Amino acid sequence: MTDALWFDPAEMLIGGRWLRASDTLPLGNPSDGTTLAEIPRGQSRDIDAAVAAADQALRGEWGRMTALERGRVLARIGQAVLDRVEELATLEALDVGKPLKQARADAVALARYCEFYAGAADKLHGETIPYLDGYTVLTLRQPHGVTGHIVPWNYPMQIIGRSVGAALAMGNACVLKPAEEACLTALAFARIARDAGLPDGALNVVPGIGAEAGAALTAHPGVHHISFTGSVRTGQLVQEAAARNVIPVTLELGGKSPQIVFEDADLDAALPFLVNAGIQNAGQTCSAASRILVHRSLHDDVVARMAARYHALRVGPALDDLDVGPLISARQRELVEGFLAKAEDLTVAAQGQVVGDGGHYVAPTLLTGATPDHPLAQAEIFGPVQVVLPFETEAEAIAIANGTDYGLVAGVWTRDGARQMRMARDLKAGQVFVNNYGAGGGVELPFGGVGKSGHGREKGFEALYGFSQLKTVAVHHG
Ligand code: NDP
Repeated sequence: MTDALWFDPAEMLIGGRWLRASDTLPLGNPSDGTTLAEIPRGQSRDIDAAVAAADQALRGEWGRMTALERGRVLARIGQAVLDRVEELATLEALDVGKPLKQARADAVALARYCEFYAGAADKLHGETIPYLDGYTVLTLRQPHGVTGHIVPWNYPMQIIGRSVGAALAMGNACVLKPAEEACLTALAFARIARDAGLPDGALNVVPGIGAEAGAALTAHPGVHHISFTGSVRTGQLVQEAAARNVIPVTLELGGKSPQIVFEDADLDAALPFLVNAGIQNAGQTCSAASRILVHRSLHDDVVARMAARYHALRVGPALDDLDVGPLISARQRELVEGFLAKAEDLTVAAQGQVVGDGGHYVAPTLLTGATPDHPLAQAEIFGPVQVVLPFETEAEAIAIANGTDYGLVAGVWTRDGARQMRMARDLKAGQVFVNNYGAGGGVELPFGGVGKSGHGREKGFEALYGFSQLKTVAVHHG
């Protein structure tokens, strides 16, 4: 077991108690292929216990807390996370394989979600509605009850922050199923939250396999809302299970997001964003800019300048804190290599340099010569691979940008104000960034997709609507 672990990762949290599952799973270190730890292999009976504990919490200390008190608990958790950024970052780097500086930013983002939702907890009000004579009508914002959170391996801390943070702020009690390939920071966060005063059962964490613990959680009749981030296929299964219980789901299913570079773009400003948004977290980012659309007049120049950056990229162990880390698993590397094998008809404009050894490393690869319908310009690769596509006109840029099944994020680089607004209107995406990409990932900015990128919004104030339900109360008093 790694020295970075300051708790027993084989224990799961149910109803305020740290328990062992009947079986464990090995947790791999993507940087060298060794085993980091054994983690619980939660089963449906563990999910049953976690849902019962969450239900109990709603009827106990947690359920009785005012919005102000919930906010104070979240604020204490946020501060405790900030106090332990380095420990959390090291765990996330080891577990996910991301370079330390990225893991550190993720830990700070987790704290920031707690802070944001701490402040927001008592700000979401109902309304009064003018109605018939003799009536007073009002609306109440109430929690769903027990919320299920299925989190993937690429950004565990950020995704826990945005979904669990908002759910707790609204007074729900959460059951969290982290990914079997990365669950250390979920367990660490739960310990930090408990120490900061989160009552028993308000957050329960059951690691395990998706088809076992995850499926049991999504099918559970005692769960009232599911928040899922991951693949389209699993998202469909989650939505089917939720439909059987007639409960709402938030699905965030990734994308094939474009950055569009017009002929009047400020290239010096654009260049770092064009590359970083493709290789951050080794491309395993739902909002990765995996397609770069460039006005034909700039195509060769942009490719040359991106290529220069690619040549400087070094890929190695997470704790060495280079530009790019390994992929999460051998399976993910094979998946990405399988895509690259389908790129024989394309031109490799540049590759980064793998200096790590023994981990799941893939050289970042910049490809040109694809048509917009090429498999590599259509599928979510989830690896450090970007495809550059030329276009001639604004209409063509929009058609190419909108021409996939996805619609998560889009970036536009142009100085033309009217064009900026037309693109913002016409791009099929949940977020459009003009002359930037990601806007620093602010927790305040609602996030989610259209099409196969999913539905529902997390982050920002908007998430609070998703994690609550509206009740209309009409009082006839004459
Ligand atoms: P999945 O969608 O299968 O996994 C995401 C989460 O869902 C994990 O916690 C997983 O558990 C869980 N899960 C898996 N099966 C079920 C199920 N039947 N019911 C409920 N929960 C389930 O993604 P993968 O990890 O398999 O990655 C495959 C591809 O998905 C990637 O190559 C990428 O394209 C995409 N992806 C997209 C992400 C995004 O941010 N949008 C994040 C991750 C992946 P467990 O891992 O423990 O089995």
